[in-house]
Amino acid sequence: MRIAVLNKERCRPEKCDFLCRRMCPIVRSGGEAIFMDDDEKKPVISEDLCTGCGICVRKCPFGAIAIINLPEEIGMPVHQYGANGFRLYNLPVPKEGVVGIIGCNGIGKTTALKILSGELSPNLGGGGGWEEMLERFRGHEIRNYLEVLSKGGVKTAYKPQYVDAIPRFVKGIVRDILEKGDENGTMRSLVEQLDLDAALDKDIADLSGGELQRVALAACLTKDASMYLLDEPSSYLDVRERLRVARAVRSINGKTIFVVEHDLVVLDYISDYIHVIFGVSGAYGVISNIKSVRVGINEYLDGFLKSENMRFRDEIKFEVAPPKDKSRRSKAVEYPMLRKRYEGFSLEVASGVFYAPEVLGVLGPNATGKTTFVKMLAGVVKPDNTGVELSNVISYKPQYVQPNEGTVGSLRIKPELVERLNIGHLTDSEVKTLSGGELQRVAIAECLSKKAKVYLLDEPSAYLDVEERLNLGKYLKKFAFDNGVSVLVVDHDILLVDYLSEELLVFSGTPGREGSASNPMDVRRGMNSFLRQMDVTFRRDPDSGRPRANKAGSQKDNEQKTAGEYYYV
Ligand code: ADP
Ligand code: ADP
Ligand code: SF4
Ligand code: SF4
Repeated sequence: MRIAVLNKERCRPEKCDFLCRRMCPIVRSGGEAIFMDDDEKKPVISEDLCTGCGICVRKCPFGAIAIINLPEEIGMPVHQYGANGFRLYNLPVPKEGVVGIIGCNGIGKTTALKILSGELSPNLGGGGGWEEMLERFRGHEIRNYLEVLSKGGVKTAYKPQYVDAIPRFVKGIVRDILEKGDENGTMRSLVEQLDLDAALDKDIADLSGGELQRVALAACLTKDASMYLLDEPSSYLDVRERLRVARAVRSINGKTIFVVEHDLVVLDYISDYIHVIFGVSGAYGVISNIKSVRVGINEYLDGFLKSENMRFRDEIKFEVAPPKDKSRRSKAVEYPMLRKRYEGFSLEVASGVFYAPEVLGVLGPNATGKTTFVKMLAGVVKPDNTGVELSNVISYKPQYVQPNEGTVGSLRIKPELVERLNIGHLTDSEVKTLSGGELQRVAIAECLSKKAKVYLLDEPSAYLDVEERLNLGKYLKKFAFDNGVSVLVVDHDILLVDYLSEELLVFSGTPGREGSASNPMDVRRGMNSFLRQMDVTFRRDPDSGRPRANKAGSQKDNEQKTAGEYYYV
């Protein structure tokens, strides 16, 4: 079975004069394999007539066409966004408890949730309606739910992905907003569980990203709904806050809660079940059977779904890094002791050295000065005690990326990085129109394209999906080694930090009041020091090697805390 997909945003017939149609051998011999949609002024590819030769795919100057062979057994789509549009196969099962959804960006997670919430009526790929839908799912676990949904009977509450946009639509003091929206009387307990007391009297416009995230979660969970849909609840939160959110969500009884999350440690901790979505981003997505959490996440990393007998990519492996051979590295840059004071906050970092090649991870609670440290090194913030003249040997990607004017193609990005970060198709796009994940990849590529001795990346995982995060981790190791440079990564995604770091720099202190940084330590010692502060222990999954957070108070948690081994034993 073969499908043809056209990315309408990329397609620009006015620039190519329908090159795809002109080059198609079927069209040239009189068949209408590609014809023009008169309303949209875009080409339509007839899947019946197309032979799959791939010429249009190669000739299109904007990479707008994909011709894809589908696995035979996936059947008919549940929904398709018009001719040559994205197709979704199957639906996740709304079970009581937390159902985690894992898959890359553009694979249909939001589409699936929109169908389950009743916002989008599934069309079964064509003009099908609810009757056909109910017939299709006869005998399936989800059939009863769909029947209720078809009669308009499911009340859902949604926590959107981009929380930074909320203050544009919602105004006022946090306490008033939450009180007004408290339909099920759980506001008080959520404020306590999410540690929101300090934010209650603030104007929503003045909140930090992490506070906004937790307020958005509280606002969603206080709605009187039978189903809650949480799209990336961990963005902007530190590890302790991520796990706190997970516990708050898990403490809700008798409801269905769908969670889309790219931090695998959080997904693992929060979920009761897992659905994997696989396919081709922007083209089609297939929702797997429902799986236990451990099996679902391991199969996702494996790239192989056992009960479906389906390989969808190569395996992603986690290996415990061997002790570092320090004799083969040399000094890249030395920095002096750094001090910075803001009203109510003070930071002190002892002098140190970056070596090359090396990848150094930076961990620490929110508001202990990680960003301030990185900004002082990059010359964006001036230390109080000394001058730092490193900006000519340092390249820096800030935490919050501001899009510039112009197209992606007008930026100075090396061809290797265009390929590695998969941004080639964005060349003609205006930077301002990119999605969060695209903008992040472009910013990382731009940072790594500069000539420097040390590369500072502040929260590069934000808005990237799991595969993008792990590809980045893998590439940064190679980048450091091939170029003989030092790469410093500040991030809250433990899996990513574990995956890429040879050594760790750990921040500690009282958030918002004072902070300090350790000297670089090996990963095990660094993780121990960080996780002791977070009061959480991690073990390693015996099959995939990935780190998993122990449930608080579990036997493993207690044993590891007693032994002082907060990280894998
Ligand atoms: P995810 O949530 O996994 O990132 P989405 O469900 O948002 O993915 O989108 C999957 C695909 O469907 C994307 O390629 C997107 O461009 C396409 N898509 C989403 N909404 C629409 C729409 N209203 N019309 C046409 N295509 C859409
Ligand atoms: P982290 O990166 O660890 O989250 P930051 O370096 O961003 O921490 O911030 C540390 C503390 O310094 C926070 O309490 C923050 O509010 C404060 N801070 C950061 N920048 C400024 C500034 N320009 N003016 C006043 N306070 C600031
Ligand atoms: Fe031109 Fe590509 Fe669109 Fe065809 S798909 S009209 S080649 S931009
Ligand atoms: Fe025509 Fe070949 Fe493109 Fe199919 S793949 S539409 S046959 S050029």
